[in-house]
Formats: sequence, C-alpha cells, structure tokens
Amino acid sequence: MGFSDKGQQGIFHRLLQATVLCCLLSIVAASASAETLAGNWREAHPGDNPADVLREVESRPLAAFDPSRMQVFPDSPSGTWVILRTLPPWSSGNRVLSIRTPGLGAVTLYNENGPVAGTSVEDFGPALHGHGRLIFEIPASLPASRPLLLRFEPTTMPPGAVTMTVEPWRDYLREDGGWVVFATACFAVMMTMALMALCFALILRDMTFGWYVAYLLCYALIQGLKSGYVFHPLEIQSLAGMADTLGAAATALSVSFAALFMLRFAKVDDYVPLLRIPVLAFAIGMPLLTVLRATGIGVLVDTSQLLLQPLLLLGALLLLVTGATAAVRGSRHAWFFLVGWTPLLVLTALCGAQQQGMLAGAPWLPDAAIAVGAFEAIVLSIGLSDRALTIRHDRDRARQLADSDPLTGVLNRRAWTEASLQVLEQGMARPIALLFLDLDHFKSLNDCYGHATGDRALVAVAAALRDELRPTDLLGRFGGEEFVALLQGVDKENAVQIATRLCRRVHRLDVHTGQPQNDDLLTVSIGVAMRSAADTVQSLIERADAAMYAAKLSGRNQVVCSGPAGPTLVRRNEFKTR
Ligand code: GH3
Ligand code: MG
Ligand code: MG
Repeated sequence: MGFSDKGQQGIFHRLLQATVLCCLLSIVAASASAETLAGNWREAHPGDNPADVLREVESRPLAAFDPSRMQVFPDSPSGTWVILRTLPPWSSGNRVLSIRTPGLGAVTLYNENGPVAGTSVEDFGPALHGHGRLIFEIPASLPASRPLLLRFEPTTMPPGAVTMTVEPWRDYLREDGGWVVFATACFAVMMTMALMALCFALILRDMTFGWYVAYLLCYALIQGLKSGYVFHPLEIQSLAGMADTLGAAATALSVSFAALFMLRFAKVDDYVPLLRIPVLAFAIGMPLLTVLRATGIGVLVDTSQLLLQPLLLLGALLLLVTGATAAVRGSRHAWFFLVGWTPLLVLTALCGAQQQGMLAGAPWLPDAAIAVGAFEAIVLSIGLSDRALTIRHDRDRARQLADSDPLTGVLNRRAWTEASLQVLEQGMARPIALLFLDLDHFKSLNDCYGHATGDRALVAVAAALRDELRPTDLLGRFGGEEFVALLQGVDKENAVQIATRLCRRVHRLDVHTGQPQNDDLLTVSIGVAMRSAADTVQSLIERADAAMYAAKLSGRNQVVCSGPAGPTLVRRNEFKTR
C-alpha cells in the first residue's frame, strides 16, 4: 500500500462528498420545471388504430395514472397504449418527453396516422438517446395541448416501473447531464475500488479481495444494465440483446461472490461455524441456477425462474444474519460488511417492491441503488484496507518472531547469517569487521547462581551490546553464551576500540545474583576479524572465533584481533573495578 491511512481516508471522504453532491444534484435536477401531465392507459389489441385510441380517450374513460409516480403497466401480449396530456398552462417551443427508468422494452411514439419514432435502451440508431431514460423530441409545431400517444411494446421480460415527464429542452439537458455525472461518479467509485482490491488480491495473494472484486463488478454490471448506462453513454453495442440473460446471471453470481467474500472477510469459520455450510451451499447454488437457465430446456428454465427470487431473498437474509452474528461475536470486519451491505440489501428489496407496483412515490429509488453501490464499495474497501494492514502487521510480526532469539531479542543465528550474507554481497567498498563474543566461565555462573540468573545475565549482555552498537550493526546470538556482531564501515582500529568498549561494558554489568557483589562475575572474551576479499561469512566467523579462543587462552576478559600472522592480543581489559 503506497498511501497512509490518513491520505486514504481523505480520498474516501472526498469521494463520499462527490457522491452525495451528485445525488443531490440529480434530485434537484429531477424536480426541475417539468410540465404537469395526466396519463391514461389501456392494453393494446391486435389491429388497434392509433387514431381510434386517441378518439377513445375522449369518448370513454380509460384507466388513469399519474405519470410523475412510478407506474407498472401489465404484461400484455400486444403491449400497452399510453396517452399523455399536458395540463395548462401550456408552454410553447421544443420539448422532450422522458421515460424513466427505461427497462429493456421498446416504446413507440404515435400520431393519429401511425408511428412517428421508436426507441429502446438497446437502440444504437441515429435517433436521440437519453441517459438512464428513453426520450422523444416533441417539435414546437405540435401544440402542447395535443395528447401524446405512446405504445409500450411487449417484452419477454416482466415490465418495469416507469415515470414520464415532458419538459423544455434546456431543463432536459441540465437534468440529463446531472444524471450522467451522478452515474459516472458512482460507477467510477465502484471501478476504482474494484481495481484497488484487485491490486491487493495480487500483491497479498488473498482470494478474499478476489471475491470482492468479482462481486463489485457484478453489481456494477447489474446497475449498468438496469439503468441503461452500459448502452448510453457507454455505447457497448456488443451487450445489446444480451441484457436480460446477462443481468440474471450477474444477479445470481453477485450474491454468490458476496457470500464467498463474506465467508472469508467476516471470518465466518471462526465466529459462526454453524452457518458456514448454509452460506457455502448458497454460494454454490446460485450459479447452478444460472446454468439451469442457460440450458434453454423448458422445465429447467422454469424451475430456475421459479427458484431465483425466493432463493435470492433467503440467501441475502442468510448473509445478513451471518454477518450480524459474526459482528456481535467479535468479528471486526463483519461490521464493515454489515454497514456496506445492509443499505444495499434494503435498496434492492425496495426496488423489487417498486417493480411490483409499490412505492410509486419514490422514483429516485433506482438511482439510490446505484449510489448505494458506490457507498458499499467505499465502506468495504476501507474494511479491506484494514484487512490488508492487519495481514501485513501479522506477517511482519511473524517474521520478527522467526528472526529473533526468544530470550535476548537479538537476531538468531539463521537470521544473522542471512543478513550478513547480504551485507558481504554488497562488495568491498567499505571495511567490515566481525566481532565474536563469548562470555567467560558462564557455566560456573549457571552452576553457582542458577540457570535463571544465567538467563538474566544473557538478556542484560544482549541489551548492553545493542546499546553500545549502532542500529545498522548486525548483532546476533550465535549459540548459548556466544554473540556475533557485524560492523560495516569500521576499520581495524575502530573495531578494536569498539570491542574493548563492549568488553568493559559487560564487565561493568550488574547481574542480580542475590549474593554479595562479585566484580569478576561476568566478563567476555572477544575475537575480531577484518573482512578480506576472499572471505565468506563462514571463513570470517572462523577467524574471529580463533581470535576469541586466543583471548580465552591469554586469560579471558580481553580483545584479540586476527591478523595475517595469526591472532594477536591487542588489548587486555584493565577495567577491573566497577
Ligand atoms: P569459557 O570461559 O571457556 O567460555 O567457559 P564457559 O563456561 O563460558 O563455556 P562452556 O562452553 O563450558 O559453557 C557454556 C555454558 O553456557 C553452558 C551452558 O549451560 C550455558 N548456557 C548456554 N545457553 C544458555 C542459556 O540459554 N541460558 C543459560 N542460563 N545458560 C546457558
Ligand atoms: Mg562458548
Ligand atoms: Mg563461554
């Protein structure tokens, strides 16, 4: 992760602000100066004549509806006629008729002589296209008092809920532009978060992030298809004609990926093991339904169609219950899941209810479903960043534990050797000295004062050595009471001075024995070897060890430096009194 927590929060904060601003913009734009409309509808029959339908609305009452509220027309085999009348005061000039949210069916505008213009979300012809809506241009030459006749053509899909507005061009353009900005911001947030999670998935090799990416892409695709965003403004023509199948598959897969993501992210195995199998079964079952549907075999398609909605609802509730239980039982990341997932679930349920003819007074729900997708992406991405930080922290901790000596906390022999190898590989540019330190008569200290005192002495010696050396010097515990230190950029004279300093510092150490003070209780013999071009870590250690052995033979508590003519005593530690 290349950014700090603070910077990350700043970006999320700004994205959140932009999303909220876009929502407000689109709501304000939606309430711009649309004309007041009255609507009537009736089912279309084969052989209907548009002139007759227009006359009919004058002569006998047709079903009335309010075009500013969400309306679901019944699924009839020949489609539905809709007559819209603008109520006074009438304005003149070019106007635009918008139908939102478009769904995937086609709509045709008629006059008494026949069809004038037809359009659908998947239409890429030269006609004008709205964004997140179907539009028809109404010329100034058509008096505003004249009714508009539309036919909603029959579709293979259940019909969607729509609102209709007629407004001046200027207002339409502002509103349409506002929606494009809003939808683009939301989809951009989702895509950015998915990209970020993909990077984490690859860097950390953690499939949790992978499931999240798959889930987010599916949700963005569902909303892109539902709102028509993938067709206009994205103009992805290759998806035309596939929106229905693709939408159903993306819906099934999105909840399946959400389930797999949640299993790992909220640590369901640890916190709610009982619900692991049902969640997993749900995650596997949903794609199977999609496969059944794709077979095209009547009975299988019908079965999958029948099961899809109830299973979706049950599965979504199962995820919610599992997430809530894990959160209550202490899974921190389950809270992120709940905060992000719950609004999305509620919005999906509300939009579903709207498609059944309920909540007609909330035409903003489909847009809210897009905004909530962006919100969830932000919340879960914060949760995933938190997970990435936790993983990194755990890995650092594990490495630190694996590299350090448990008693003294300095590098253990393996880690010290590896680090020293790397230092030696850097070349001969700087002199390198190796100090081999062996505590004197340590066995006697153990024997006289006990093993615990010996341990305390080792800890005290390691702390003193670490304190005397620079942070860049490599200090390690080589064996029982033996330490090694690799000093970079230190010539022979300096190395001997440092070794003597260490020798005196150890001699001054106070080991709490519980016995009367003994000045010579703890001393160390140190062998020094300077690195030559032919040296490996092993040969350098051998020479320093031989020098240390010479220091032992010469009476201990002193420094011996290895030279071409063999080890030579350089300094006896004369610091005998504390
Ligand atoms: P010399 O001056 O010749 O080095 O004598 P020495 O007694 O220090 O050397 P020797 O190799 O005979 O004994 C090393 C002792 O260090 C033996 C062992 O009990 C003790 N030792 C090794 N590891 C530990 C440890 O982790 N804790 C304690 N308390 N003692 C240890
Ligand atoms: Mg020893
Ligand atoms: Mg010893």
